[in-house]
Amino acid sequence: MKMSELGEFGLIRKIKQQSKGRSPSTLIGIGDDAAALSLSPSKKLLATTDMLLEGVHFDLSYTDFYSLGWKAAAVNLSDIAAMGGVPRFCLTALGIPAGISVEQIKEFYKGFNTLCRKYNVDLVGGDTCRSERGLVISVTVLGEVEKKKMLTRAGAQPGDLVFVTGTLGDSAAGMELLTAGARVQGPGSRVQGPGSRGKGAGFRVRGSGARGEGHVSELRTPNSALLLKHLRPVPRIESGRKIALSGCATSMIDISDGLSSDLGHICEESRVGAEICVDQIPFSKDIRKAADHLKTIPLHYALSGGEDYELLFTISPSKLKKYLSLKIVSTSIGSIIAGNTMVLINNGKRTVLKPKGFNHFSGQGRGQ
Ligand code: ADP
Ligand code: MG
Repeated sequence: MKMSELGEFGLIRKIKQQSKGRSPSTLIGIGDDAAALSLSPSKKLLATTDMLLEGVHFDLSYTDFYSLGWKAAAVNLSDIAAMGGVPRFCLTALGIPAGISVEQIKEFYKGFNTLCRKYNVDLVGGDTCRSERGLVISVTVLGEVEKKKMLTRAGAQPGDLVFVTGTLGDSAAGMELLTAGARVQGPGSRVQGPGSRGKGAGFRVRGSGARGEGHVSELRTPNSALLLKHLRPVPRIESGRKIALSGCATSMIDISDGLSSDLGHICEESRVGAEICVDQIPFSKDIRKAADHLKTIPLHYALSGGEDYELLFTISPSKLKKYLSLKIVSTSIGSIIAGNTMVLINNGKRTVLKPKGFNHFSGQGRGQ
């Protein structure tokens, strides 16, 4: 159905129907001039907005609308995770160009709501406009965190250990494969919840005959996990909460722009330096398996690629024993040092690590 047949208010009604089910804290949701929300008095309010622009953040030639909705929610939820918070409410503002159908917007909200439901986040409002050039998505998430448990980019101290959740570089490697023509195919492109996503079971990657570039048509390895990591990242809400509540961490950030840039933010805000050991950086078996199909080495994707949405945090040495006993899935990759330099240690050789991740105005990579 064309957007013009349904109209702005018809579309908002559909979005409202599709996003039912809300917590008692949503006093007024979609439908009035503003949402009315009640928050726990003992907590701090967290607020974050991220935009996703067609041509800058995503490409509709390889992104399906379900994944786009999922990712729009994920990148914002990840910012709440990075503060150690609990996401509660969200708002979505869309600029929709001619040519986008009602069904596509419905798919977008299916993906978006899947992630919101998993984390009990209510969609409480937004805005809907026509766009003259490209699809524009802006999502705002409100969350909360216990006053004494909030983690920020400031607070890392020399001697702290640097940890990351998950593995690094997968999303950027996945984007490269997608750009080259690889596609994820699920059963009827139907969707899987984060819990059942597993290791991409049921998905396979094929080379795209039409747009395939030499090496991609030979891509037969089932590394759809890399593509999915780019299309449907899972925000580390549970880990973020455990890390914050443990009281063992001194700073935290999510990796949206690449390890070099995001570690750079921690160093800048905490006024410290860091040493990262290359051989401790966690890489997935998927990125290693796909190495022959990638233009560069996994380390490059980890340092400069971005969009992994893993958490990067620092643990005080006095709390290390306690932290390890909590068994939060994570890897230590180095430590914080005095000064303001980031150093990469590779086979005993030390080189200065410069922030090389995504920057919207320097034309490098892609990220938030
Ligand atoms: P107003 O003109 O007062 O801004 P709108 O007609 O834009 O009102 O919106 C009506 C209601 O629908 C509001 O509650 C608004 O938050 C909600 N809304 C509008 N667009 C969206 C959207 N894309 N997603 C969720 N809620 C939306
Ligand atoms: Mg409005």
